[in-house]
This record gives sequence, C-alpha cells and structure tokens, in this order.
Amino acid sequence: MDLCNLSVIKSVMADAGITFRKDFGQNFLTNRIIPEDIADNCADSSERMILEIGPGIGCLTQELAMRYKKVVAVEIDKGLIPVLSKTLADFDNITVINEDIMKVDIAALIAEHSEGMPVSVCANLPYYITTPILMHLLESGVKFSTITVMVQNEVAARLAAKPGSSDYGAITAVLAYYGSVRKLFKVSAGCFIPAPKVDSAVVRIDLYDKCPYDIKDETLFRGCIRAAFEMRRKTLENALCAGLGKFTKEQIAAAISRCGFDSKIRGERLSCEDFANLSNALFEMNKTAKI
Ligand code: SAM
Repeated sequence: MDLCNLSVIKSVMADAGITFRKDFGQNFLTNRIIPEDIADNCADSSERMILEIGPGIGCLTQELAMRYKKVVAVEIDKGLIPVLSKTLADFDNITVINEDIMKVDIAALIAEHSEGMPVSVCANLPYYITTPILMHLLESGVKFSTITVMVQNEVAARLAAKPGSSDYGAITAVLAYYGSVRKLFKVSAGCFIPAPKVDSAVVRIDLYDKCPYDIKDETLFRGCIRAAFEMRRKTLENALCAGLGKFTKEQIAAAISRCGFDSKIRGERLSCEDFANLSNALFEMNKTAKI
C-alpha cells in the first residue's frame, strides 16, 4: 500500500472516522521518495533499532522497517493506532506505542526494546514541539548513534548554523555539544497534506561518543548559552551579568578576557567550544571565591 498516495491517505482516515489534527502538527507526506530518502540516510547499518516519533499513518515507518532490524514508533494520537495496525500489518518488526513522546522515559523505552542493538532516531517531527523533543532525546542520557529529523526549513538552518550567522542561536550551540549536524535535503511544502505554510528540511545529527569539549559544570555551560541568547543584542558581559546572577561584572569581564575574547563581544559570535571555555573560566572563579 502506498501510504503517500493522496487517495490512500484520505480513505484510511475516512475509514477510521478521523481527520488531520492541527493540534498534533499533522502534516503527512504525499511524495513517497521523501520517506525512502529519509530512511536510506538516517543511519549507517541495518542491525539497529530505530525510534520513530509520530508515525502518522505509517509511510516512513514502513520504509524504516524494510531497512532496519526493528522499529519502535511512538504516536500521541490514539485515533491513528487502529489505522497503523492495518497499514503496518505486513511487518513483524514494528512496535507502535500510543504515548506522548514528551512523557516517555526514553532511557527505559530503549532498555526495554533495543535488545542491545545500536539505536537511531528518525522522525518527521510535529513542528509545534521540535526543540523540546530534540532536547528530551539529547538529555535522556541514551547514546543514540544518529538523530535524523524533518523540521521546518528555518529551524534546520538554525540547527546547522555557524557562529556569528543570523541563524545561529542557543539551540545551535547546545546541539554542537552533543554531535555534528548537517542538513541533508529540503522538502517543499507541496509534499504534505495538509500543506504547511513553509518548506521543510531533513537534518541529521551524528552524536559524539564523548563530547570533544571538557565542560566542568554543565548547568553553568547551559546557563551561559541561555543568558547570551536571551539578550543577544547586549554585549556578552552585560547579558551574562543579567542572566547568570551569581557573578559580579568584574568576574565576568575577567573570564571573558581570560578566554581571549574582545570585551565588547556578543554571545552570538561564540562557538560551543567558546562557551565551554567561558563556563570553565567562570567555574574556576567560583571555586576560587569559595576557598
Ligand atoms: N510520519 C508521518 C509522515 O511523515 O507523514 C506523520 C508526521 S506528522 C508531521 C507528525 C506526527 O507526530 C503526527 O502523527 C502526530 O500525531 C505525531 N505527534 C505529535 N505530537 C506528538 C507527541 N508529543 N508524541 C508523539 N507523537 C506526536
């Protein structure tokens, strides 16, 4: 069954008595080349488990199941569960779970289903909740090999942006701590039903086994990034002073200088490694102050 065919999509949904739910970010793919391409490019070897978020009626799920050993798909919409049990009936390597991914204990789910195999994530993400889902996955502590997601094109640009560019933001710097990000391809709005207002793009994150940056205090590292981007028009010094609270202006100025940055630099020019160095300098200062 071609689950990207418009008549098929409409008829399986009509048979189940359901319509597209805007509140769940439901924009289903209507061009089968796209799920094929995503499935081809989301991981390097077939002996693995794929965690899919939001299978919809299962167009990407079936492509994943054809290429990888096992697929676990988490779908929030209970109206789609009976649909999926029909559209994916031919596969014995798919488990569908009716849950909100944000409420799922990711580490426990992986421990239960992965059978010790490497795990990758692959999803056409609901756009209303892209960043929270990414952070939920990254902060789960699970060592995913890759995370491949379709997101709005402008979000893809932000995820893969270079420091100093207009697209660079807090999420870019945080993501660079977990892995290397690349945009795979763009997908036009016309490839979905209902068609969203903007184009999309597929992004692949290859996660590091171990972060290349030595970070002494992760909370402080994240705090620096958050503060720098919450007030990105201010200088880094002023933004950190207002956002971090616990350091004096002199301490922040000293840390900035110790890292070799210009005193008037803005946070948006700093790479992930720069934020690591800066938070380490502040950490050392805090330690010295306590002694
Ligand atoms: N994979 C299908 C496709 O590519 O055509 C559907 C993608 S659609 C953009 C997003 C899917 O995520 C929908 O099926 C939606 O119901 C589901 N979804 C939305 N929020 C979710 C959540 N918090 N947890 C799990 N699934 C969610």
